[in-house]
Amino acid sequence: MAKAKIIDGHVFIHCPGCKRRHALNIDPANGRPAWGFNGNLDRPTFEPSLLERSGHYVSGQPQPPDCWLCNRAAAEDKKNYVCGVCHSFIRDGNIEFLGDSTHELAGKKVPLPDLESAD
Ligand SMILES: [Zn+2]
Ligand SMILES: [Zn+2]
Repeated sequence: MAKAKIIDGHVFIHCPGCKRRHALNIDPANGRPAWGFNGNLDRPTFEPSLLERSGHYVSGQPQPPDCWLCNRAAAEDKKNYVCGVCHSFIRDGNIEFLGDSTHELAGKKVPLPDLESAD
């Protein structure tokens, strides 16, 4: 059971902090940035760190109370629209979240889950 899989030059992992997949480009032909990858789908390592910003954490987006994603999430009571920051190091099959992540796993290091069963 693999923790990652490669589709079209991107490695997909399931992030236990965001509870969804992240895709890391490993082919410079796809454009920058391209991560260094150890090629091991069971114990993946990437360099450098992964930083994902979503919703109003993306620079230039409307901030609360004018963030439509936050407002929609509040109106529909859905958690998957939450704006946030996910900053991590993925090494040897583990994902270590840095303190500037906005989800509950900030500052923690946990094993990456099996990709297919986590989705
Ligand atoms: Zn994440
Ligand atoms: Zn927002």
